[in-house]
Amino acid sequence: MLPRCWQAAASAIFHAVPGGHVLIPDDIYHGIRTVLQTVFADWGLGYTEVNMSDLAEVEAALEASRRFDQVVVWLETPSNPLVKVTDIAAVAEMAHATPGRTVVVDSTWVTPLVTRPLDLGADMVLHSVTKYLGGHSDLTGGCVVGAESVAGEGGLMARVRHGQTFVGGGLAPFDCWLALRGVRSLGARMPVHSKNALELAKFLEAHPRVTHTHYPGLESHPGHEVAARQMMGGFSGMLSFQVEGGEAAALALAARLQIFRRATSLGGTESLVEHRASIEPEDTPTPRDLLRLSAGLEDAGDLIADLAQALE
Ligand SMILES: *Cc1c(COP(=O)(O)O)cnc(C)c1O
Repeated sequence: MLPRCWQAAASAIFHAVPGGHVLIPDDIYHGIRTVLQTVFADWGLGYTEVNMSDLAEVEAALEASRRFDQVVVWLETPSNPLVKVTDIAAVAEMAHATPGRTVVVDSTWVTPLVTRPLDLGADMVLHSVTKYLGGHSDLTGGCVVGAESVAGEGGLMARVRHGQTFVGGGLAPFDCWLALRGVRSLGARMPVHSKNALELAKFLEAHPRVTHTHYPGLESHPGHEVAARQMMGGFSGMLSFQVEGGEAAALALAARLQIFRRATSLGGTESLVEHRASIEPEDTPTPRDLLRLSAGLEDAGDLIADLAQALE
């Protein structure tokens, strides 16, 4: 199913579970938190933030939401923007011990070439087609894929599809055409995004002015072992890092970059840098000294040289 945008995809899922409850990661694409707080709360759909990297916390949150017939367990791995890793298979197994638990994975950051959540036990996968699938930063689109567990006439997927159709969120023909054009080169693009991101992460990790580098391909990442198991052929092109000197230093660094463009979004051919806290709501937990990078398809040496001059 191809909704108009990712936000329409997420909303179609929430429309399908009235009176239920949603467990979301404590680090997550902020649009989800916002739509739950400002739209779905009024419709009786509550949510709880959970550290999904900690399986004991996930277990406790599942236990605390026992009284709901329908619980959506929302995962994003690696998460945006702190790049936290969640063990999809372990969470799916725990969730499915109780009927009415639907595991949804926002796989925007990784694509099916890197992580295959349905094979790991998830019930639904979402993508922002705007990102890697489209691949050229020239369309907006969403995508929902359902597993066997939610298929069929009475299944949740039928309700999601019905909601999308009648609430009005279908993707336009031209955007479908652009998406198909983009997907054709996904197999050639993804390994380059992953390779470039790993080189950038290694450079940043070794730089004295960088205090933290968040990338699951680094052995120092707390989720590296799980990531190595559930991410294939690379760790995708998204990373973030924190710099000495707080928000002002991060903003100044971003302004000095010549090849990385300052923009939101990700997954296109050009490398992007973003001061994430600036575009999120004011009460965001995102650290103010954090910059997020989307590694594009340029030469890795050029990208590293650009970061090196901006960090001087
Ligand atoms: C960008 C992004 C979205 C939202 O996608 P849009 O197509 O821009 O609405 C959702 N989840 C993640 C992880 C993202 O990075």
